[in-house]
Amino acid sequence: MSTTKIGWIGLGKMGIPMSQQLVKAGYPVSVYNRSKGKEDILRAIGATTAATPALLIQQVDLVIIMVSDDKAIHDIFNGEDGLLSAKTSGKIIINMSTVSPAISKQMAGLCEQQGNHYLDAPVSGSVKQAEDGTLVIMVGGNESVFEQAKPVLEKIGRLAMRVGDTGAGNTAKLVINTLLGIYAQGLAEAVVFAQQNGIAATDLLTLVNNSALGSPFIKIKGEAINNDNYNAAFALKHIAKDLRLAKDLGLSTPLGEAAFETFQQAESTLGEEDIIAVIKEVGK
Ligand code: NAP
Repeated sequence: MSTTKIGWIGLGKMGIPMSQQLVKAGYPVSVYNRSKGKEDILRAIGATTAATPALLIQQVDLVIIMVSDDKAIHDIFNGEDGLLSAKTSGKIIINMSTVSPAISKQMAGLCEQQGNHYLDAPVSGSVKQAEDGTLVIMVGGNESVFEQAKPVLEKIGRLAMRVGDTGAGNTAKLVINTLLGIYAQGLAEAVVFAQQNGIAATDLLTLVNNSALGSPFIKIKGEAINNDNYNAAFALKHIAKDLRLAKDLGLSTPLGEAAFETFQQAESTLGEEDIIAVIKEVGK
């Protein structure tokens, strides 16, 4: 399977370490990114580059996409030099971006018309897990296509699991990120509440991390709060986007609604900072 030629689209915070895993695993990898310069990091470890998505798909067996949102997916598929303009067939296209189930269904339909196959395969985990190859990958789409793609996905994640037909991976991801938004806001509120009552943030976080509530998330984001470091690992604008997509799916629970409102309000000023910068919003 390591002879499978892989095309990678999207070299953002996640796309770079994820594609690096595949190069390190010995796959021939060709990369494309909209803005130029980021490809150099991949070229330095042996990847080749393609000038457009259309040229990329012609060279490879399997294409993986890791870009921001529905608009980016639309541009990658339907743009002038987009994937669909190449009129290929027999390719597997895996969209690992966090996007709506609706755009996955639309793109899967267009891929099938050309004789290509589409999987939605968003990930849980952040930059650290991408660097370690330990992401959790949830997949929607045809079962036999998933089985073909699984060895590649298992180089990126510690778990690659099919949860249903096209769009099911995206739906599962939006459920998980709703929980993530609630978690981040909950942690931020606990720290603010503690400080308002004379308990230091560092002390609170030490107690929480040693209690049954401790988790990798609270450990990593607690350190960010302690160090006053809000550089984005997972940009706040992305969780604001994900909660909007969850709303479109019908999210209406009390905590889900609260997280939706908080992150929409925070996005204009804190969008480029990390998700846990929400502490600045709830502590205002
Ligand atoms: P990022 O650092 O903001 O990178 C976004 C990528 O998308 C860049 O390569 C960007 O290209 C490309 N892009 C954006 N709009 C485009 C367009 N219209 N056409 C073509 N390319 C476009 O994002 P990220 O943090 O890697 O996240 C990528 C996806 O993974 C998102 O859907 C996010 O929600 C999801 N995710 C992120 C994390 C995390 O912790 N960061 C975790 C799980 C899932 P340019 O370089 O040209 O701007």
